[in-house]
Amino acid sequence: MDHQATHLYFQSKVSRHKPMTLNQAEDHPCPFCDRARLRDVLLEDGPILLLKNKYPVLADTEPLVLIETDDCLGELSEYPREHLFKVMDIAINQWLAMEKDPRFVSVLFLKNHGPFSGGTIRHPHMQIIGLNKLDCRQYIRLSHFQGVPIHRENQVELNVSTLPLAGFYEFNLIARSAGSLHTLALMIQKTVHFLLNAFRDKSCNSYNFFFYHIDGVIYCKIIPRYVTTPIFMGYLIPQIPDNLQEILDGFTSLYF
Ligand SMILES: [Zn+2]
Repeated sequence: MDHQATHLYFQSKVSRHKPMTLNQAEDHPCPFCDRARLRDVLLEDGPILLLKNKYPVLADTEPLVLIETDDCLGELSEYPREHLFKVMDIAINQWLAMEKDPRFVSVLFLKNHGPFSGGTIRHPHMQIIGLNKLDCRQYIRLSHFQGVPIHRENQVELNVSTLPLAGFYEFNLIARSAGSLHTLALMIQKTVHFLLNAFRDKSCNSYNFFFYHIDGVIYCKIIPRYVTTPIFMGYLIPQIPDNLQEILDGFTSLYF
């Protein structure tokens, strides 16, 4: 019987050798700065590198890493426009190409930044992970992208979730046309800049973004990260804050 895969299998032996530069002492050198020792490079464009992840911690996956810059302390929210477009073009093209590869049931495309993001390396990077057995959309509902509109431009909608996936503040971008991906990139950059510089009294130093491709529409969910609430961890109950309007008024007045 062929069961739909519901879980990813974490390989602890692979993980044990993985370098950490995010929450640890400074004497751990950054593996992404040591370019001469990087192997399995698939694409190089100036300071941008796409390569196979040296530590495939998840079974039945093909993990790639996109190193966004040669500046270890850089951040996506600070990139000049041309560099942002180059990084996002490479990432989105690779993600969509892997989606068409019959070896994969689905493909994850995500980014971690900051100590609460779940990432291990500070150096700016994104991850594109082909899943051989699991459909990453199985727990996702279109309602997770519904929200109070913040901005609309060039067929891209930005909103803040009214029915969040996990809880609190989730910013959604919905791109209905492939021709609007640079608008999408700019709106991701604005949202991330807002989160790191002006959101909730500058309390946020970590975020994730996640991409989804459902029925020809590209969705991106950007989540400011704090310690995850126990009510979600234990009961899967998402929580909705009562000040969404206040948050989005602040965002709009500063950025749009
Ligand atoms: Zn580095």
